[in-house]
Amino acid sequence: MIHIQNYINGQLTSPNSQKYLDNIDPSIGKVYSFIPDSDNTDVELAYSAAKAAFKEWSILPKEKRSQYLLKIAALIEQNIDKLAWAESIDNGKPLKLARTVDIPRAAANFHFYGTGILHYASHAHSMEETAINYTLRQPMGVAGCISPWNLPLYLFSWKIAPALAAGCTVVAKPSEVTPMTAYLLSEICMEAKLPAGVLNIVHGLGAKVGNAIVSHKDIPLISFTGGTTTGKQIASIAAPMFKKLSLELGGKNPNIIFADCDYEKMLSTTLHSSFANQGQICLCGSRIFIERKIYEKFKSDFVAGTKELVVGDPRHEKTKIGAIVSQPHFEKILSYIELAGKENGKILCGGKAVKLSGELSQGYYIQPTVIEGLPFDCRTNQEEIFGPVVTLTPFDTEEEVLMMANSTVYGLASMLWTQDLTRAHRIANNIHAGIVWINCWLLRDLRTPFGGVKASGVGREGGFEALDFFTEPKNVCIKL
Ligand code: NDP
Repeated sequence: MIHIQNYINGQLTSPNSQKYLDNIDPSIGKVYSFIPDSDNTDVELAYSAAKAAFKEWSILPKEKRSQYLLKIAALIEQNIDKLAWAESIDNGKPLKLARTVDIPRAAANFHFYGTGILHYASHAHSMEETAINYTLRQPMGVAGCISPWNLPLYLFSWKIAPALAAGCTVVAKPSEVTPMTAYLLSEICMEAKLPAGVLNIVHGLGAKVGNAIVSHKDIPLISFTGGTTTGKQIASIAAPMFKKLSLELGGKNPNIIFADCDYEKMLSTTLHSSFANQGQICLCGSRIFIERKIYEKFKSDFVAGTKELVVGDPRHEKTKIGAIVSQPHFEKILSYIELAGKENGKILCGGKAVKLSGELSQGYYIQPTVIEGLPFDCRTNQEEIFGPVVTLTPFDTEEEVLMMANSTVYGLASMLWTQDLTRAHRIANNIHAGIVWINCWLLRDLRTPFGGVKASGVGREGGFEALDFFTEPKNVCIKL
């Protein structure tokens, strides 16, 4: 069985502890590889390498940095089948999804920032005859990047690519639950001849490796994507150290459906936005609000569509719902379905674990689940479940649905289905969310600001916002 290695100073290295953790294939519930159980000593080595590499990398002409990023993007594309296969095994997601979404997007992230940096410019502020100010944007130093398990290479590269493009060097930690494609990325970086120390990947537990990165006194900025509770913990350590923070956290996204929508388009997209990646996308719509006039029709069509989603082997072409990422997460989702029952929710379909046959019999599978009859403010409707579970709630007026949509502590994404343009603009203006999709879902333009409000995060990724994050502005004022 493969032993994943850290990638430090351009080399694949074993952890100082020489200890490894189990890496489980969730589709079969069995260990299939091992992950370095790294600690603060490995982070220190990674930091030293990144610090040394920063001297050259930060002053390398942006055209040269761009070439490295574009080479990495090309190598990801060339290795798409291997990477998609690895992502599917590590995470449990359908192979088709990894092949068409995760891995192409990881390549796109490197390509986008490899070209984006060539167009990144700073401002000048003229004081007419008196003076001129210009803003330098200087790379911040060694960046700490920490990412979650749901879109492993997709989100890992979404941080690393802008950091490297901006001239920072990086100490990065992928989720311990899904480390494999980050490991394969190290091999790709070696093949691309990325200079030693520019990117360092340290595998291991959040409490050890993640914490060592966050509390490192010389790492001045942290880009983190993960749960809100972890985000709070990170902020409490980083804030007194005056670190720059980008936090992309949890969500409980509303999907608001008006009777005047394009019904067929809405129905097929809503099935997707509810259950893609087993509902484990921070942008999935887990609270579906339906205008009462079409509630019964929607309910019947949506439940029928949900029942058709095939739960099964992630590697099969027909599978729509693969395995849940881990046993603890599988148990968490089932506990929320139980809670919904206690809160007097009615399960319209799903609601149970699925026992598949043969070698998949120990895998973590859950039926896509639709629940109705819950008050908008109960725990099931307020807390993030992050699984294939949605609730249906009818509404009568725009004011009422807006109030319910805005009632959670979260504010990441939202979806709105209507043909009434004026209403669409009005709701988009008033909804608590960093992202509003009108008559679509997950349509992404990488130039746009990405992130959430309230407990869904601090700061924005995407486009030049990410390059702003990884650079420090310095104003220079020249008296004329
Ligand atoms: P976690 O917060 O558990 O973990 C995220 C990362 O942080 C992992 O690499 C984890 O390591 C690490 N970590 C854990 N504890 C610490 C710590 N004390 N200090 C530093 N790092 C730590 O999130 P999940 O991996 O469970 O991801 C799911 C969550 O991510 C959901 O809440 C989801 O909504 C959110 N998310 C948000 C997105 C957004 O853009 N807003 C996008 C995707 C997901 P380890 O795995 O070893 O514990």
